[in-house]
Amino acid sequence: MMSRKALQAARDLIRAADRILLAAHVDPDGDALGAMLGLYWGLRGMGKECLACCADPVPQVFSFLPGSGEIARRGRGDEGLIIALDAGQLERLGSAYDETLFQGVPVLNIDHHTTNTLFGQVNLVDASSPSTVELVMKLLVELDIPLDARIATCLLTGIVHDTQCFRTANTIPSTLRAAAELMEAGASLRKVVDKALTTRSAASLHLWGGILDGLRVSDGVVWAWETLEMHRRSGAAEDEGRGLINLLAGAQEAEVAVLFRERGEGIVDISMRSQGGLDVSQVALAFGGGGHRRAAGCVVKGSPELVEGQVLEEIKERLRTAET
Ligand code: 5GP
Ligand code: MN
Repeated sequence: MMSRKALQAARDLIRAADRILLAAHVDPDGDALGAMLGLYWGLRGMGKECLACCADPVPQVFSFLPGSGEIARRGRGDEGLIIALDAGQLERLGSAYDETLFQGVPVLNIDHHTTNTLFGQVNLVDASSPSTVELVMKLLVELDIPLDARIATCLLTGIVHDTQCFRTANTIPSTLRAAAELMEAGASLRKVVDKALTTRSAASLHLWGGILDGLRVSDGVVWAWETLEMHRRSGAAEDEGRGLINLLAGAQEAEVAVLFRERGEGIVDISMRSQGGLDVSQVALAFGGGGHRRAAGCVVKGSPELVEGQVLEEIKERLRTAET
């Protein structure tokens, strides 16, 4: 649970700052972008000068979000407050956050990852919240900022993305109430679900086909690879393979599902989902990443064979230990 004191401290930090930098994590998803842009429009409405930034470009599927075309790659350096959104560690902001440039500038950390390192001067962190946008909504209330259709569209996207449209195990009644409030403020659930979850390019479906073709199953683990070659052949955009992890997670045989994505230069991006009792955020943490009990990720350097072997062994070992 997030304390009232933390909410008030966040409010005071924001009130005291004229220029504010909002930063979403690298490889941004619907929650990171929705939380950042929802808060961006809210703070601008109260007269703050704001800059929204992210080290990586906005994936095409989120280009419908109001403000998605105004996102810079990094801060200017003259901001008096940095607000990190949906990032478990400061490093997750990547090059958007320059330590030397922002020395002494307070950081407000708004996040819901179990592995959050509480790196902010003020931490609005609640691992029981299904999304970061639900924390942003509480902050908007604290700041007396009313919702409008633009803010609501951004925020609803975060909820829909992180709960896979109210389907994940951490979805709670207040998530549905928050979504209803956002719809009443003018957000279209149909449009958000369509844009953020359902619609995909034919190229990405080709890519998914290639990945699924190589699906493997053993000892409660279901895994697959997106290789550079598959990606090149499909013509899909950079991030279009990512959502497939949620389909893998539905495999009946999967206590744990893993999607390995080859990124070039020996880098492998790994997504994990747990359907049983295993806390995959701990697996991710062991490889320098993080996340939630049932959804986590990490980026590992090494040959595909080596990385696959290490990660699967770590998962299987933990599954074995949990059984005994
Ligand atoms: P996804 O598999 O959807 O990319 O990520 C699942 C969850 O794990 C998300 O909440 C995401 O923020 C987190 N996550 C994914 N990759 C990384 C990573 O490399 N480092 C950390 N700390 N968290 C990650
Ligand atoms: Mn999130």
